[in-house]
Amino acid sequence: MSKVIIIGAGGVANVVAKKCAQNDGVFTEVLIATRTVRKADAVVAEIHEHLPNSQTRFSTTTVDADNVPELVRVIREFGPEMVINVALPYQDLTIMDACLETGVHYLDTANYEPKDVAKFEYSWQWAYRERFEKAGLMALLGCGFDPGATQVFTAYHAKHHFKEIHYLDIVDCNNGDHGKAFATNFNPEINIREITANGRYWENGQWVETAPLEISQDIYYPKVATRKSFVLYHEELESLVVNFPTIKRARFWMTFGEAYIKHLNVLEGIGMTSIEPIDFRGQQIAPIEFLKAVLPAPESLAANYTGQTCIGVQAKGIGQDGEEKVHFVYNVSDHAETYREVQAQGVSYTTGVPAMIGAMLMLTGVWKKAGVYNVEEFDPDPFIDAMNTWGLPVDELAGIELVK
Ligand code: NDP
Repeated sequence: MSKVIIIGAGGVANVVAKKCAQNDGVFTEVLIATRTVRKADAVVAEIHEHLPNSQTRFSTTTVDADNVPELVRVIREFGPEMVINVALPYQDLTIMDACLETGVHYLDTANYEPKDVAKFEYSWQWAYRERFEKAGLMALLGCGFDPGATQVFTAYHAKHHFKEIHYLDIVDCNNGDHGKAFATNFNPEINIREITANGRYWENGQWVETAPLEISQDIYYPKVATRKSFVLYHEELESLVVNFPTIKRARFWMTFGEAYIKHLNVLEGIGMTSIEPIDFRGQQIAPIEFLKAVLPAPESLAANYTGQTCIGVQAKGIGQDGEEKVHFVYNVSDHAETYREVQAQGVSYTTGVPAMIGAMLMLTGVWKKAGVYNVEEFDPDPFIDAMNTWGLPVDELAGIELVK
C-alpha cells in the first residue's frame, strides 16, 4: 500500500525496518538510505533471515542526509509517500527541506540540534509550520517513546482521566544490564550532550534551571524496581506545556546508576565530553566524537542485555468528576524479549515501534493534517491501541503517587 524511506541504519532504524516488515499490509516498499550502506544491508539480511514471510520489499542506498540536493535525488528516484528520519537530530532540517522540495510527508524521533551548540528546542522545526501547511504535507515531530509515546500518554490522561492536569512527571527507567563498564543506550554523542547539559523543568509559567543531575529522588517503577532518578531537561516538556496550559509543573526524570555517573564525571572532568573541536595531529576533532568512536555501538549491546525498561507519565490534578486525582500510564519492555523479536535492545525497541506506529497512522489517514505537529496534538486512542498490538503493552496505575 505505501512506499517509505527510512533514513539511518542505527539501533532505532533497525527496529523501525523490522516493524515495517512485520506490518507488510501497510509498508509495501521500504528504502533504507544511510551514510554507511553496509549497515542497512545488514538490517535487510536479518529481515530476510528472521521474517522470511514478510511481503515488504526492501532496498538500500547511500545518502548524506546533511546534503539537501543528494536527499532530493534519492527521494525523487524512489518516490515514497513519506520519510521516517531516524538518523541524528542534526539532519532534521535538511531532511525537512528535502521533503518540502519533493512533496513527501515527514516523521522524526528527536528535535533538531545544531552540531556546534548543545541546545535542543522545537523553534527551528516549528518555523516550518506554514511551509508544510501550504504544501499540504504533514511533519510529525518526536515520535519515539520519549519524546513520542510520553505525549500520547499525556493526551490520554487529558482525554480519559482529567479535567485539568496540574502536575506532570515523565519517568524513564532503564533497569537493564548490558555487562559493559560504560556504554550509552542510544547514540553516545546525543545521549551525553543531553545528560551533561543543565537540567530544566517548568514551574508556574517559567523554566527553572538546575545544575546537571542536581535534583533526584527514589521512584518506584511498577513491575520493575525502585531506582534513583534525576531531573533532566527533555524536549517533549516544551510542547506539552504549550498544548496543556493548565500544567503548573512539568518535570522529566531518568534513572542513572552510580557507575554510569562516575564514568561520566571522569570523562567530563578530563574534557572528553566537550563539543569544542581540538587540534589532533593537524586534524580538528570534537572530543565527544572521538569518545563515540571508542564506546560500544548501542546496537552491539543488544545480544547480552537483560532486565527491563519502564517509561511512563504521572499526572496529578482535577479528575473528570471534579475530584483530586493522580494517575500513571506506562509501558514495561524487556531487553531480552526485544532481542529475541528484532535483535535489538529495549531502548532502540521502545523508540522504533512508536516511529513505525506514527508512520502507519499517517499513511492510513488516521492521523493526517497538513502542517508541523507534536504527537500530543492527535487523538491518543488509535496510537495506544497500536502500541498494544505492536509490542508495547500499555498499563495504568490509579491513585498511587509514585513521584512526589
Ligand atoms: P545511531 O547512532 O545508532 O544511528 C544513527 C544512524 O544515522 C546511523 O546509521 C548513522 O550512520 C546515520 N547517520 C548519521 N549521520 C548521517 C548523515 N549525515 N547521513 C546519513 N545517515 C546518517 O542512533 P540511534 O539509532 O540510537 O538513534 C537514532 C535517532 O533516534 C537519534 O536522532 C536519536 O536521538 C533518536 N532517539 C529517540 C528516542 C526517543 O525515545 N524519542 C530514544 C533514542 C533515540 P553511520 O552508521 O554511518 O554512523
